[in-house]
Amino acid sequence: MDHFRRVCLLITVVFLVLSFRFDSLNAQKRQSSLKSHTMTYFHKTKQEFTVHHIRGKEPGPTLLIIAGIHGDEAGGYLSAERYANLKLKTGNLIIVPRLNGAAIRTGKRCGLGGDMNRLFNLPSNNSNPDAKVVNLVKQLIRQSDYVLNLHQGYDFYNPRWISATRNPSKWGQCNVIDAATFHLPDGQKLELENFAERVVHRANRRISGLDYHFTVNNTHTAVKWSRHREQRGSLTYYSLYNQQKIALGLEATKNCSLAEAVSYLTIAVNAAIEEAGIQAEALPSESSRSTGVQQVRAKGNRIKTRG
Ligand SMILES: [Zn+2]
Repeated sequence: MDHFRRVCLLITVVFLVLSFRFDSLNAQKRQSSLKSHTMTYFHKTKQEFTVHHIRGKEPGPTLLIIAGIHGDEAGGYLSAERYANLKLKTGNLIIVPRLNGAAIRTGKRCGLGGDMNRLFNLPSNNSNPDAKVVNLVKQLIRQSDYVLNLHQGYDFYNPRWISATRNPSKWGQCNVIDAATFHLPDGQKLELENFAERVVHRANRRISGLDYHFTVNNTHTAVKWSRHREQRGSLTYYSLYNQQKIALGLEATKNCSLAEAVSYLTIAVNAAIEEAGIQAEALPSESSRSTGVQQVRAKGNRIKTRG
């Protein structure tokens, strides 16, 4: 009987080892069969936008970077574009640098369908002209584990009133979360606040001026007393409450040069990529002197005169 038990145990161990090896081989095979590629949607229309899918050599989490949902926040889309040609060792990135083409072309917050960051709670068959863009973004969120939405706002967020330019109603230099934690149906929790705090901590180590340090801004969007109930239509709120993804709004201040804003957002995105466990061969430079903003700015101006 003892001998029989030993044989059974041995067979079980061999089976488990083989199936684990088979699974990891399959995962590597799946990863290598997925190639990096770029897709353009709504070609030659006002709503045209490009999506860059970057696959790492090894499997890992997928992080989605969205920018340009508001056309008057150039720091966001100029930062996101810097990730389009990245090479990854581990994990994947999906990058949509200029989501709201119509808004970016006019340099205004809204495009064809109003404020696109208030449309994510509408049913998918609604008649808003931007609904088709929003529905595509929802598909990209489904493919991701982490979601970043890049913005720029005036002044500086602070949880307490410090001054007219540094207080709870401002948005600059913060990582926005809709809730501290989110309870999943299986009893597990998504720890958004912990993740956002770790990203802030990583970022602030690289920012010498204390005035420009990032802070976590929990908008408590779902609760009755929230001062930001309008955010229930936002991309990050949808990502968390409809698809259970860790979603951050990354906000740089507008109270600095555009090159500096791009530098702050690059620092914040790099910190989030590292914290998510995605490894790049080299991340974009974080110095405001090497953002390439002058060059990109000239390109943006050409688009403006054309549109
Ligand atoms: Zn914005």
